[in-house]
Amino acid sequence: MKNGHAKARSRAQSKPRPQSRRSAARAKWVYLLEQGRAGMRDLLGGKGANLAEMTAVGLPVPPGFILTTRACNSFLEADGHWPKGMWEQTIRALGKIERRTRRKFGNPACPLLVSCRSGAKFSMPGMMDTILNIGLNDAVAAGMLSLTHDARFVYDAYRRLIQMFGTVVLGVSDEPFEKVLAAYRSRRKVVNDAELGADDLLAITAEFKQIVQQFSSQGFPEDPAQQLRLAIEAVFRSWNGKRAFDYRRATGIPHNLGTAVNIVAMVFGNLGNDSGTGVVTTRNVSTGEREMEGDYLTNAQGEDVVAGKRITKPIASLRDENPAVYAQLQKIGYQLERHFRDVQDMEFTIENRKLWMLQTRNAKRTAQAAVRIAVEMAQEKLISRREAVLRVTPEHVDFFLHPQFDPAERIAARERGDRIATGLNVSPGAASGMAVFDADVAEQWALRENKEVIMVRPETKADDVHGMLASRGVLTSHGGRTSHAALVARQFGKPAVVGASAIEVDPEGRCFKVGERVFREGEIISIDGTTGDVFAGRLTTILPDFKDPHLLQLLAWADGFRRLGVWANADYPADAIRARGYGAEGIGLCRTEHMFFESERLPHVQNAILAKTDADRAAALARLLPFQREDFVGLFKAMDGLPVIIRLIDPPLHEFLPNHDELLREVTELETRECLLGGTGASPAPSRALEWKHRLLEAVESMMEHNPMLGLRGVRLAIHLPAFVQMQIRAIFEAACSCAVEGVKVFPKIMIPLVADANELQLERDLLEAVARTIMDERGIRVDYQFGTMIELPRAAITAGQIAQRAEFFSFGTNDLTQTVFGVSRDDAETGFLREYLEKNILTENPFATIDQRGVGAMMELAIELGRRSHPKLEIGICGEHGGDPKSIAFCHRIGLDYVSCSAFRVPIARLAAAHAALDRTRIPPTGRLRLPWPSHRGNRHLPHLRRQGRAI
Ligand code: PEP
Ligand code: MG
Repeated sequence: MKNGHAKARSRAQSKPRPQSRRSAARAKWVYLLEQGRAGMRDLLGGKGANLAEMTAVGLPVPPGFILTTRACNSFLEADGHWPKGMWEQTIRALGKIERRTRRKFGNPACPLLVSCRSGAKFSMPGMMDTILNIGLNDAVAAGMLSLTHDARFVYDAYRRLIQMFGTVVLGVSDEPFEKVLAAYRSRRKVVNDAELGADDLLAITAEFKQIVQQFSSQGFPEDPAQQLRLAIEAVFRSWNGKRAFDYRRATGIPHNLGTAVNIVAMVFGNLGNDSGTGVVTTRNVSTGEREMEGDYLTNAQGEDVVAGKRITKPIASLRDENPAVYAQLQKIGYQLERHFRDVQDMEFTIENRKLWMLQTRNAKRTAQAAVRIAVEMAQEKLISRREAVLRVTPEHVDFFLHPQFDPAERIAARERGDRIATGLNVSPGAASGMAVFDADVAEQWALRENKEVIMVRPETKADDVHGMLASRGVLTSHGGRTSHAALVARQFGKPAVVGASAIEVDPEGRCFKVGERVFREGEIISIDGTTGDVFAGRLTTILPDFKDPHLLQLLAWADGFRRLGVWANADYPADAIRARGYGAEGIGLCRTEHMFFESERLPHVQNAILAKTDADRAAALARLLPFQREDFVGLFKAMDGLPVIIRLIDPPLHEFLPNHDELLREVTELETRECLLGGTGASPAPSRALEWKHRLLEAVESMMEHNPMLGLRGVRLAIHLPAFVQMQIRAIFEAACSCAVEGVKVFPKIMIPLVADANELQLERDLLEAVARTIMDERGIRVDYQFGTMIELPRAAITAGQIAQRAEFFSFGTNDLTQTVFGVSRDDAETGFLREYLEKNILTENPFATIDQRGVGAMMELAIELGRRSHPKLEIGICGEHGGDPKSIAFCHRIGLDYVSCSAFRVPIARLAAAHAALDRTRIPPTGRLRLPWPSHRGNRHLPHLRRQGRAI
């Protein structure tokens, strides 16, 4: 029976159209490397297409062929039956390799061995399977032995084939094989397999065969053709394996692409000390520096480098060991980088001093490296500035705004002796969390129990990816810069330290040791992927300076491409200063009421709310006025020369009073206590504290509403209780006038929230402009100002034409607009039923994070159309949370907003996202409707009515 996961996977694997028998027989399932080119990734997969390209440009690639992604889909669709003609084409292609290599598959006299590797359109490192040395059996091994006289080499290759075949094709677990290897290593007192001798490897080969016999019904097939056929099938099937599925889900790779299979003649890196294998990138993919970087191993094969089981050597030492090969590798790297116009991640093997290229692909990189590489490649004229901007993602920029460990804490930790190890700094960033020792626990603790975890392993394997994704960071004791842990961490932007050899990880004992110190599962550790340091305990983090020169250059280029303005939501001068430092071009939303909550202000706010007379209220507000004025002075100074939108008080007043239930409990307790203290005589006069609480309780009860978010708030509150907003206008204009006198260029823009009808705005505007004029007259100075409104209710959008006649600007409050268009509570839905809606795919995205284009977006378009029709110069922006979301920003660009406003920390991201929206229209996600949300054919009963409304205003 299929488990739930497998069911989801088979659902997600959308079925290709079945092929008729005749067209299947005619179909081309297999391509020789010389028949492909880089542009054929869809069909040949990334690895195959690039091998073909390297072959075409004359680089040393062993001969080979590719079974296409279409072949994979047809095989999976036919439940594991080979489509007609595919095996025959495979055998014919194999014949061509035999002729090119002058060897014969399965022939002991001159044997050809091949590798079988997966290769999807988008690289999925380590997520699918590979089998090397196919074609070896007892007879072929004996033949190779008499040809090479190198028993160590022959049995090393043979035992690897049996292990890989056993695990990948026959589903035997890795464990019994690894146990045998470990036993031989300890018997010989060596640390790695390369140090085992020929006799050991011969014995190990025999033991491996027994393991396969014992754990699988089939046993290891001696027939090379059967090995090849089963290996191809296993690689095809690995497309639907759990780790490949999880990886695709995490990276957004479609499930229906299928994988190609690459069959390539084996070259051997385990032929002795003049042979080896390695993985290099053409630039440093952690920092972006322009230097070839990577690891290699002498006398080793294929997976040894990536698996992290042996301690690799940095590629720079190949320069000393084999300068000619090093120079050739460097030249090929340069050539490939120019050819593909991107940093390459190359796999190579050296067989008896001859270099063979086994793979090249665009390298995964950290955010820092992505930015530096893009900028430097543009400066080197390898790519255009436009391309440089498009190559950096908003997530990359986000990384620069993430916390790092406080330097003072780092020093203190070192002095305490809490820096317990140092490893390779392979993926930057700081992370603290509980040490966990396997991927399932990491996932369980992080996702189900909301704990912060760091995954600690000797090395990671493809099966660990789900745990790595759930963790804050990754720490391994083995492995190099191109180890699995490093590659995956970099790709997902997880801080990682690998190869921290001072720590001894014991996954079974659920602990790791550093010398005498033992760290058990659940203990907090901190890792610094920028420096490679590992600390005991938690270190506090700070925000880094926004000074990376490459990032600043890239954003400056992005600014040259974007049309949308980028403003910030900021309530305090410190936020405004930060936002301006990040490139904000104005304040799009200052939520004035946020300042009311501060301890020295709240009592005045509460007094103003509780006041029985206008005079009492005026007195309380007069005490609040200087605070507000100072806030605005700070904002205007921080934004000197730029617009500042100040929104007048918005929330319902009960938010400034204590919670009703708590208050009731406190009153009851006080009453009981005071009653007891008063004894049995006449009831004593209540204390002042009790009296105050009674007043508060009375006020809270009088203000209670069933749906406060739809109640007395925003403009309704301003109309009902004008004294608050009058005080705010006074504070804004007094601040603006005094700043102007000092020479600060001020552009206050007053924003009225929650307007549903043009008359509300007109009434407020008349009232408040009168106050503004009075103040400017008092001060004898005039400042430029504007009045505008938020569009955050459907009725405001529908009557935007009328509202626009009373406003100089609109700002979409998409938090409330989403709430009211959907008719869901923004405070409850996200933690409630919305989750279920997302899980069940009723909604594809959280509408409070990304604008729901079909509904909320359509409302916005309607408001823009109606608003601009009646007020062509109307300035329109957005200040809901969506203003910092790249997809929503692309939408805002498309519908013609003037600017987006978001929190200071999102400003750099928004600058890049706005440039992407302007540069690359294909990146813009498909929208719902772009015009009115109703069909525009005649006879629609809503449309004439709406049009009339639009025209009548
Ligand atoms: C909004 O509704 O989008 C908005 C910005 O206002 P608030 O979140 O303060 O209600
Ligand atoms: Mg709002």
